[in-house]
Amino acid sequence: MYALRRPPATPATTRGRAIGYSAAARRALPFFLNTFRASSTSETEETTNVLRMVMFGKPGAGKGTLSARLVKKYEILSLSTGDLLRQHIQERTEVGREAEEIVAQGKLLPDDVMLKIVASKLDHLRNKHWILDGFPRTVGQGELLDAHLKKQGTPLSLVVNLDVPDDVILGRISDRWVHPPSGRVYNLSYNPPKVDGFDDETGEPLIKRPDDNPEIFARRLNQFYASTSPLLEYYSKAAQKPTRLPRLTPHQHPHQLAFPFAHTMLLKTLSGKTSDEIWVQLDALVRSAFPGLKERSPSLETRRRHSLSDAVVAQAGNLAQAPPLQGDS
Ligand code: AMP
Repeated sequence: MYALRRPPATPATTRGRAIGYSAAARRALPFFLNTFRASSTSETEETTNVLRMVMFGKPGAGKGTLSARLVKKYEILSLSTGDLLRQHIQERTEVGREAEEIVAQGKLLPDDVMLKIVASKLDHLRNKHWILDGFPRTVGQGELLDAHLKKQGTPLSLVVNLDVPDDVILGRISDRWVHPPSGRVYNLSYNPPKVDGFDDETGEPLIKRPDDNPEIFARRLNQFYASTSPLLEYYSKAAQKPTRLPRLTPHQHPHQLAFPFAHTMLLKTLSGKTSDEIWVQLDALVRSAFPGLKERSPSLETRRRHSLSDAVVAQAGNLAQAPPLQGDS
């Protein structure tokens, strides 16, 4: 199942989506200029210390690469909707059959379909730190996600906007090769596989994503400007006003509902031409905003269970009621 992000067997490796983090700290922290934080708070541990993050940016901006670095370093789970859809397509599920043509053409799937497949994963992750990569992609999806999370009392705590120039991205795409089962990404110019055409960790063949050709990619970039970029405005408004979350107790009458906890969401823009440059800023950001985040222990068991979907499987195993991952439609 290749929506799962598995870390490479050797932590020292510097390749793929779970790439190493060798960059020097070249930049100061300009992202603080782009910060919006509502002033108040008497936040609870529930709302403040848990990383519930959207990794936002153009296609090819490095969302997958940077999410994988966070997942490799910290006890965070990630979910890429692009990987999830490619998995559905490969497995010929109902969603996969609907998605195939749309993904191939660089268009977007309907908001309600996307929310359904994402929500079914998120529902298992209330007290975990997580990252969404590639979702939401429209204001409609953003609203649906917010409503869903608010209902659970687990609103977003961080949105990171990756700001990478278009010409840099276009240069990356033509050289991009991927290993679908792990989501590892290689670039022939600056991050080539050890053996041409094969994944470093498994030796399996790499593929070129069919939607990474110049024509379709241009459409995906246009799609980003038309449908996805308005989300930034949506999140910058949300980041400026604290949300009150209901505190529910089992025997409470609806009129007695209390809304005592103010929750704020951070929105940060991180700029750079390479993922290494941005990584330095991103790592500093999550460390300072979420001091409770634990670094991942190198134990095999922990590494095995780092991905969001793995955690779902593990939890389902514990409860002896495995949700049908394949049919998350
Ligand atoms: P990605 O790997 O994130 O670039 O996603 C690959 C393709 O999957 C996109 O070009 C869309 O066709 C589809 N897709 C991924 N995420 C979404 C989403 N949130 N909403 C609609 N379509 C999506």
